[in-house]
Amino acid sequence: MEGDVTVNVEYSTINYKDGLALSGRSPVIAKFPLIGGIDLAGTVESSSHPGYKAGDKVVLNGWALSQTHHGGYAQRARVRGDWLVKLPQAFTTRQAMAIGTAGYTAMLCVLALERGGVTPDKGPVLVTGANGGVGSIAIALLAGLGYQVIASTGRMHEADYLKALGATDIIDRATLSQPGAPISSARWVGAVDSVGSHTLVNVLAQTQYGGTVAACGLAQGPDLPGSVLPFILRSVTLAGVDSVNAPFALRQQAWERLARDLDPGKLESTATEVGLADVPGVALRLLQGNVRGRTIVDVNR
Ligand code: NDP
Repeated sequence: MEGDVTVNVEYSTINYKDGLALSGRSPVIAKFPLIGGIDLAGTVESSSHPGYKAGDKVVLNGWALSQTHHGGYAQRARVRGDWLVKLPQAFTTRQAMAIGTAGYTAMLCVLALERGGVTPDKGPVLVTGANGGVGSIAIALLAGLGYQVIASTGRMHEADYLKALGATDIIDRATLSQPGAPISSARWVGAVDSVGSHTLVNVLAQTQYGGTVAACGLAQGPDLPGSVLPFILRSVTLAGVDSVNAPFALRQQAWERLARDLDPGKLESTATEVGLADVPGVALRLLQGNVRGRTIVDVNR
């Protein structure tokens, strides 16, 4: 493929978007045939890009991968050096893919909350889609930063897992998923929402004065059937978060912060490892909401 860096891929991963691509449920792949996988981590084999040389450990999240450019479900990848980030020394390539787009997006959401002025002393924060990839890593990050974390989930039987990640309160997602009042009692100062739809509307309605909600996902739906009242009566900020085309400086900041703020033991507790042949089955289970945490793909087995 077009590109200036050849990477020996060691690990990839399975995100929600990979599920959409592999199932064909959304038009992610724009060019056929194409290798899937929006993430990869590995070692540079050769490079004519000034930023990279043979032997460098690198990570790639998003950009055109699995859309118009071959993705991470392969042992080698030819990519643009501008898409790469140097792997922080704190991480192995396997850990980088335990993080993957989901974990890096969770970090982007935390950065968005910080930009909005959310701090641990101002009140609790909510994480929706708690058992998913974004949710699990967001809980670990926020708890590590000293926040009181409320986790919203449809899998209450996974409460022990969520508490081990650092959640202090677990709420049933059914309490947020139906149409509700346009504004109601304030319960949190910030939120990381990977669910969208009525859930996001209810999250906004229950955010305290001056709070910020980082919206990155659509696991319930892409609609936003709500009211402006939280914005105009409580100065709530709705911060959009995109990982795919995030500029280099923001990516680098996110990876540096992951290296500093993410507990490696908690990261490992979210991860399950599979081989390439397992990818289609896991991707379908993920779309059904039946995968907990993060899935690492060893592309060499
Ligand atoms: P996962 O499938 O790992 O997690 C999604 C979680 O959402 C599920 O585990 C489940 O958590 C919850 N959920 C699933 N279905 C529903 C539903 N119908 N109603 C309410 N909650 C539901 O996916 P990821 O963590 O990888 O991604 C989460 C979302 O974020 C996706 O929509 C994805 O497209 C988006 N995303 C966006 C990015 C961006 O750049 N903006 C980057 C990465 C992801 P539980 O069982 O705990 O309720």
